[in-house]
Amino acid sequence: MERTLSIIKPDGVEKNVIGEVISRFEKQGLRIAALKMVKLTKKDAEGFYIVHKERPFYGSLTDFMSRGPVVLMVLEGENAIARNREIMGATNPAQAAEGTIRKDFASSIEENTVHGSDSPESAAFEIGYFFNAFELCG
Ligand code: ADP
Ligand code: MG
Repeated sequence: MERTLSIIKPDGVEKNVIGEVISRFEKQGLRIAALKMVKLTKKDAEGFYIVHKERPFYGSLTDFMSRGPVVLMVLEGENAIARNREIMGATNPAQAAEGTIRKDFASSIEENTVHGSDSPESAAFEIGYFFNAFELCG
């Protein structure tokens, strides 16, 4: 059993596809262990994406992530980290496989609808960044 952090980004909330995105995770066997909807501050987004602080898109990415509400979730299941990444699709929607969330909903490489942890280490950091022990069910 593994846990991973998933975010429905501001563009996904704006596109009104929260239910559709969650449904894809559930239909593909991932369970929701925690969930909340919040609006991040610019500082919250900067701290979350601290690994990207030297990248040219850091300022724009953290503006985007703090412009409107996001849905934060902990997904749970066997190989949840890799399976979530498969369900999401490639970072750039132009390269995302058919049937993935990013292929179907993302507008651009930046506004790509969902986030998913990329390793056990980042999942541990990211889950702890947003959730405390009382919010993690099961
Ligand atoms: P992923 O979310 O697929 O793990 P990265 O960790 O490489 O991708 O990047 C984090 C986020 O930064 C992406 O999901 C996307 O929102 C944004 N991003 C990545 N590359 C670019 C880029 N070249 N231009 C603008 N935004 C980008
Ligand atoms: Mg990443």
